[in-house]
Amino acid sequence: MKPVDTLLFGTAGTPHSAEPRDSVAGIERLKQLGLDAMELEYVRGTFPSKNKAREIAGVARKTGIRLTAHGPYFINLNAVEPEKREASRKRAFNTANYGALSGAESITFHAGFFLKQPPEDVYRTIREELSGILGRLSENGIDVDVRPELTGKETQFGSLDEILSVSKELAGIHPCIDWSHLHARSGKCNTSKEFQSVLDTVRNILGDSEIRQMHMHLSGIEYTGKGERKHLDLDESDMNYRDLLRVLKDNDVCGILICESPSLEDDARILKDFYTAL
Ligand SMILES: [Zn+2]
Repeated sequence: MKPVDTLLFGTAGTPHSAEPRDSVAGIERLKQLGLDAMELEYVRGTFPSKNKAREIAGVARKTGIRLTAHGPYFINLNAVEPEKREASRKRAFNTANYGALSGAESITFHAGFFLKQPPEDVYRTIREELSGILGRLSENGIDVDVRPELTGKETQFGSLDEILSVSKELAGIHPCIDWSHLHARSGKCNTSKEFQSVLDTVRNILGDSEIRQMHMHLSGIEYTGKGERKHLDLDESDMNYRDLLRVLKDNDVCGILICESPSLEDDARILKDFYTAL
């Protein structure tokens, strides 16, 4: 990602108050709202045309709004069937390709499912697939950080340990820390002390520089013993975002924090206002 010396706040996709509701209007709306970033949502598997992507990149450049991209939900780099595996590689590649063309500096996606296989085998498979994707990106001159996301369920690849290990092993891979998913996995990780320990772990494994180039997600969240159920607005959930923001500030964490609450821009403003007032 491009260097940044503060924490930037943005929305997961086009803000609701953008008119029309597309990426170009969304970026302009974020500028008006005093927000900093937007994640392009390719979650349903549709990508912009090349012309549209270039237009998006132009508006982002003009407004200074920073962009990232989220890949389709149906990526499973551990899929057993070769066609499904190949389709997943393609979706990850396209996310990077269209993301980069649109001016995104990083991409994130949920890397895969365990399908009841031994976790060590799945880790090895997904690491190899990610390495293959990095190779394809570099052959095509596509320069974006690839950030597997910390996921909200134990059945999905993407615990804190897994994404930090794969980030350590492969240059070009960095974590996407979704604080709400982390909380939803166990019901824990919702206190200052626990937030601090996550940052200490990131620092220990990936070094201090990683803390200055973080990509993170945050929203309210509903969860059960099986993990994430659905995203909620911040103040409708138990997510302790105030202490989290305090810990991020105390640690001088820099990068991009994307708000994934249903009321996208309202909650993003709540986060930015609280952070700025600290
Ligand atoms: Zn996600």
